[in-house]
Amino acid sequence: MNFKLSVCKNYDPTKTKAYNNNKVAYGWEVQDLSWNRNKLVKLTTQCGISGNEFITGHKTKDNWKATHVLMYDFDNGLMTIDMLVDLQKRWTYNSYVFSSQNHQRQKIATGGKKVEAAHDRLRVLIPLAYPIETAADHALIEAFLLHTINKDSEYIDKTFMHMHRYFAHGTAEVSSFVGNKEMLDWKMLPGLSTFKQKLEKDKEKKANETRGRKKKVVNINNTFRIHWSVKTKSGKKQVLKDLKEKTEILCPNCGDDPNRGTPGAINAVFDFNEYGKAFIYCSSCESRGAGVSGKGIYNMHPEDRFIQSCLERDFILFRDAEHGDLVSGVHKIDPMSGERSWGYRKMYSVLQAYEVLAMNGVPKPDFFPHFNFDLRFDIKDTITFERQFINKYVPSKYLQEPLPKKAVGMPKYIGKVLNHVMAGDPDIIKHYVNDLADLIQTRRKRRTAFLLQGTEGTGKGLWFNRVLKPLIGRDYCNEMDQGPFINNFNSSLENNVLTLVNECRANFTSNRSADGAIVEKIKIAVSDSDLEIERKGKDRYNGKNNCSFMFASNRLKAVVLPLGDRRFNVAPRQENRIEFTDWWPGGNEIERLMDKELQEFTFFLRTYKVDKKSIGMVIQNRAKEIIQSLSMTNAEEFFLAIKNGDHVWMEENIQERSGYRGEDDFLDARNLLTEVKKYDKISKVNLCKLYNYIVHPGKPVTMSSFGKSAAGHLPEFKPVRINGRVERGITVDWQDISAA
Ligand SMILES: [Zn+2]
Repeated sequence: MNFKLSVCKNYDPTKTKAYNNNKVAYGWEVQDLSWNRNKLVKLTTQCGISGNEFITGHKTKDNWKATHVLMYDFDNGLMTIDMLVDLQKRWTYNSYVFSSQNHQRQKIATGGKKVEAAHDRLRVLIPLAYPIETAADHALIEAFLLHTINKDSEYIDKTFMHMHRYFAHGTAEVSSFVGNKEMLDWKMLPGLSTFKQKLEKDKEKKANETRGRKKKVVNINNTFRIHWSVKTKSGKKQVLKDLKEKTEILCPNCGDDPNRGTPGAINAVFDFNEYGKAFIYCSSCESRGAGVSGKGIYNMHPEDRFIQSCLERDFILFRDAEHGDLVSGVHKIDPMSGERSWGYRKMYSVLQAYEVLAMNGVPKPDFFPHFNFDLRFDIKDTITFERQFINKYVPSKYLQEPLPKKAVGMPKYIGKVLNHVMAGDPDIIKHYVNDLADLIQTRRKRRTAFLLQGTEGTGKGLWFNRVLKPLIGRDYCNEMDQGPFINNFNSSLENNVLTLVNECRANFTSNRSADGAIVEKIKIAVSDSDLEIERKGKDRYNGKNNCSFMFASNRLKAVVLPLGDRRFNVAPRQENRIEFTDWWPGGNEIERLMDKELQEFTFFLRTYKVDKKSIGMVIQNRAKEIIQSLSMTNAEEFFLAIKNGDHVWMEENIQERSGYRGEDDFLDARNLLTEVKKYDKISKVNLCKLYNYIVHPGKPVTMSSFGKSAAGHLPEFKPVRINGRVERGITVDWQDISAA
């Protein structure tokens, strides 16, 4: 069995240790030797040997190439012969234990050192099956062996694995050879892999901990901000960021100082140094000993320098000033389409932030710039450095595409879907398109909302997910049922541009407190811009309600609105599923067709001539009246029907009742209605009869009581002529009487 060992040809066994120590720096050569006792005795007693191989013959740490043999050094007596030989027996690999020159010899006291008692001084050679060739492996094995051998006490010399160690002057006083086992497979040392994992974990932990010593404070004196604007030679103000090299400017530090001889006269230059870094040199500042080292020089603010190097590499890294998170702005790539779009990522640790910097080749800054990081749909800028603002909102590609020259109309399938969702009501569709166009053009939050009504499958999901979401941006549109919406109220308002609240159930006319809480939140959501936001265990802060709303209800009578409501536009109920329309091209096909039309639809909205007068208004249509009527008492409805001349309502509410005289009463009431409909006046007597039949069946009220109820709802009763007779009554303008 052969092994490799470095042998020094300059070593002279006949000379003293002191002599040889000067000779053994050079002359090292690696030799292929056989593992047998005689050979080893000779090598350890007659030669200068090392388990390390060197690149040249020069024995230094930097010249280390590999380790072929481990060299244990037990010099302080803690490891005795018995212990070591016992250990050697248990090793599963070959080894040779021998004694050093000073084994069991008392060291002579020199230079005030104490006399050391005689003790065992032992050496071990352990040949390796293959060499350790990297510094990392070497360091690992060194740490592992120190950890294992010196577990209870410092048996082995801590320097035993130093790369320039060598052995000489050994003796055969102790000579214990093992040659019938394997060479040591060091990668398979028991416990090594666990040790390695623990080492790596500790290292990471250490890297995360801040070091004890205080960091130096960053000097921001004598710096300038690149968003400052300065006067240039042309007399105009220009932003420093936009200036070319060697531009003459008015010094931003002293330019307008009235103590200058000629205040306002150009006195400085903006330029770049040999490393491409911008600086300002001002002669006035230099003469007064101002600027860096009093030389009139000003450098770019470290924050601007950091941001510029980030932006040059097309990303940014900053701290959210309000919430404290580190955030990176990067070009995210869609794994499906490969499309690149700007977006933000919260960093999970400072380490991740450092990795992002390293990946982009930007050095760690002394501090991360702080920005207000809010969702502001109404602010069109992405980053405003001078206001320390970064907009969470990133416009969709549809909104960024340059407008075409030709006018654009409503595209076919998107138009059809909208028409179906709004149950074909032309007024509500026109009002909705006007409002949506204004939202896209001004990006201002809506103060009114649209309520969609209908059964499942009417296409509102299609409309929201396939039109509105991609148009505004998927990250800023939210579809929620009412329950979760109420529970995530603040964050929902703060972090969305548009929310569709499904399963809406709200009675705006109810006095019950459970209804009141929901109604109050919906009112705030729709109409209020500013929010006071409370976070769990943290200070409250003022947020902004960016969100516009759509509501949808499947059930009849789920939403009840008062007569004077100014928040809701109501689309009529749609009872038909969209896939049963004759134009329906199929589920996947409609998505493909709408997708193709989206850009066109966005152009249509962006160029739509908005009727500004109807923004913020709600339209009073039949669908809304139905919802409002739910809130009214029967009496209120009755009076409203008379006021509006709504004979259809009257007919619908004159219904036959069961019981004695039921049929007679029904016929009387119906005949009475037919009779009074003939004239544009109606008497108080007849009104009271109809009122009692419809509103107070079985418990009729007196004429005077009816008069009191009617006051405030109907005009005053005055003498009027009806069919030739003068009676107390009012004028009624019956709707559409000829058609009825
Ligand atoms: Zn100056």
